[in-house]
Amino acid sequence: MRQLIAGNWKMNGTGAALAELEALAKHVDAAKPGCDVLVCPPATLIARAAAQARNRIAIGGQDCHAEVSGAFTGDVSAEMLRDAGATAVIVGHSERRQYHGETDAMVAAKARAAWRAGLIAIICIGETETQRDAGHANRICKSQIEGSVPHGATPENTAIAYEPVWAIGTGKTPTSPEIAAMHAHIRACLAAPLRILYGGSVKPSNAKEILALPNVGGALVGGASLKAADFITIVDAFRGAS
Ligand code: PEP
Repeated sequence: MRQLIAGNWKMNGTGAALAELEALAKHVDAAKPGCDVLVCPPATLIARAAAQARNRIAIGGQDCHAEVSGAFTGDVSAEMLRDAGATAVIVGHSERRQYHGETDAMVAAKARAAWRAGLIAIICIGETETQRDAGHANRICKSQIEGSVPHGATPENTAIAYEPVWAIGTGKTPTSPEIAAMHAHIRACLAAPLRILYGGSVKPSNAKEILALPNVGGALVGGASLKAADFITIVDAFRGAS
């Protein structure tokens, strides 16, 4: 499958940020990089971003509720994301697990909701620094896969994002052999040949090396996806890596 380069804007961006999206979409349209490019803006921007993107790049959500609708104030369902123009949704990001108490079972329910709505679920897993230092990273990721990835996951409806929690937004990354080893471990834990994205401080300077590693099916990029120039360099690193 083509590699997937996905941007997670987190809680950043108002209408003015659509200029960055346009610059990215224009580049992807002209350069045809040969990878899938997805941007996940805040929910408030999804409809405008999808209209702006005009299928040159894909637009996704950062989270969804497991139910279709109901008395869940402040939440957004997968069907609502789809209706707004999204084709994918991130579920189980470590910030959702950490700040919103999301469990593996909740993440699995959200992934099933994504499929129900026809969205690709990008299911995030990853160990904390303490867990890695204690030698438990492989066990933690295996158990998150067992709990968060529902039966029925296929390469068409699901991607995994391996995001070591200690690498997110810190500028720190595992070494290339560490990333390759963890991706091989995740590959061995999965029943289907899903894309496995790496996420955690991916930036223009390290993207090429990371994207060339075995079993790395793309990248989930936070901070460096906010500026079109940086994200374009990462998308172009894919071309250098292939
Ligand atoms: C993320 O939040 O998914 C992420 C990978 O963030 P950053 O690239 O900023 O580390």
